[in-house]
Amino acid sequence: MHHFRYVGHNLQCESVDLAEVARLYGTPTYVYSAGTIADNYTRLKKSLDGVDAHICYAMKANSTLAILRHLANLGAAFDVVSGGELRRVLAAGADVSTSVFAGVGKTEEEIALALKEKIYAFHVESEPEMARINHVAGKAGVRAPIAIRVNPDVDAHTHAKITTGKSDNKFGVPLKVAPLAYEAAAKYPNLQIKGIQIHLGSQLTDVGPFVEAIKKLTPLILDLKTKYGLEYFSSGGGMGVVYREALASGATEWWDAQSAAQRPLTPEAYGAALVPLLKPLGVKVLLEPGRFLVGNAGVLLSRVEYLKRGQNKNFLIVDAAMNDLVRPAMYDAYHEIVPLHRDTSRPALVADVVGPVCESGDCFAKDRQLQQVGEGEYVAVLSAGAYGFTMASRYNSRPLAAEVLVKGSIYELIRPRETFEVMIAGERVPPFLK
Ligand SMILES: *Cc1c(COP(=O)(O)O)cnc(C)c1O
Repeated sequence: MHHFRYVGHNLQCESVDLAEVARLYGTPTYVYSAGTIADNYTRLKKSLDGVDAHICYAMKANSTLAILRHLANLGAAFDVVSGGELRRVLAAGADVSTSVFAGVGKTEEEIALALKEKIYAFHVESEPEMARINHVAGKAGVRAPIAIRVNPDVDAHTHAKITTGKSDNKFGVPLKVAPLAYEAAAKYPNLQIKGIQIHLGSQLTDVGPFVEAIKKLTPLILDLKTKYGLEYFSSGGGMGVVYREALASGATEWWDAQSAAQRPLTPEAYGAALVPLLKPLGVKVLLEPGRFLVGNAGVLLSRVEYLKRGQNKNFLIVDAAMNDLVRPAMYDAYHEIVPLHRDTSRPALVADVVGPVCESGDCFAKDRQLQQVGEGEYVAVLSAGAYGFTMASRYNSRPLAAEVLVKGSIYELIRPRETFEVMIAGERVPPFLK
């Protein structure tokens, strides 16, 4: 369930009128619902009742400090993919010792930092990385806890740029060679075998690939448990959220609005299918959801600048752009776009919703039917809580957007809009140009 709904004519986040937020802080601005994140977290945790499950939030989805603090308060640990993310966990005042470190390109500095902060485990993606972690741990005089990421060669049926569990992409070691990889790991004096990990891809809307992967891995997990005292299995992230018809007429939650074909993977369905497979393994289970926890908990507020009427097409030009939210341009992603002030007496408008960036790809929606809106009015791009702000750039010298967190009837700026001075602060013109 998410907490964005119309009350009268106005779109609210929990008990806060979003137009008020837009007027106060300007646009483009991301707004997140603390209640939605808490509901998502609690619901997922509950769906795995009976299993010793631990949620490591994949913070690349949204790593703003307040969001991290909120999830840490709920009991989450973190799945980090860089030294920068690890330092963000520390900056948020959260605990690194229950968190895991993923990614194919960990540097020596990043490994040393994670060891110093007592990371729960490294998710190792290759043999050379294993050797490097062993080397860095040796220098530090410690044993590094590791899990090997195994690629189960399962088709997740998702977008090519976000599928990761097939044999032809860069992640993990193939299932066939996994036993050998563990034998190699056991021989390194400074490594301690802790777990095994998979991650199939992102925005999975069916539990089938998860089931298939766990069934494929079960004999190996049981074998590793006997041989090395394996402590945990991480089933990765990838649970999808709803992007289409997210706020369809009268619906109060994402799932109400769905036709059967579009029904997303609910935590209850995920738990019901997975618990019977996970429980007999008799090991701790880690989950690494990113999108599922925050995706439907955020919207991007934007102001209409112009309605440009063309011969064949209308363009609704808004002040948010691909630099703020790159998902439509990068993944052909669909996002619902709705007015902050809903007025059903107005005529409909069919338009491409575009930003001001000088790229044809700077388009949030093509031939979208919307309520007619004019200059100065606001719209919200829905389901923008995951892979929104974290993927933002300053392309076209546009400052990074502001971010606001809502909790009930209160809200707070959690990141002010970047100023021009901050944007150029680190730049230098060298003396030889002066
Ligand atoms: C990106 C990633 C996740 C999170 O993926 P979501 O689709 O956001 O749940 C989890 N684990 C690993 C290893 C990842 O790379």
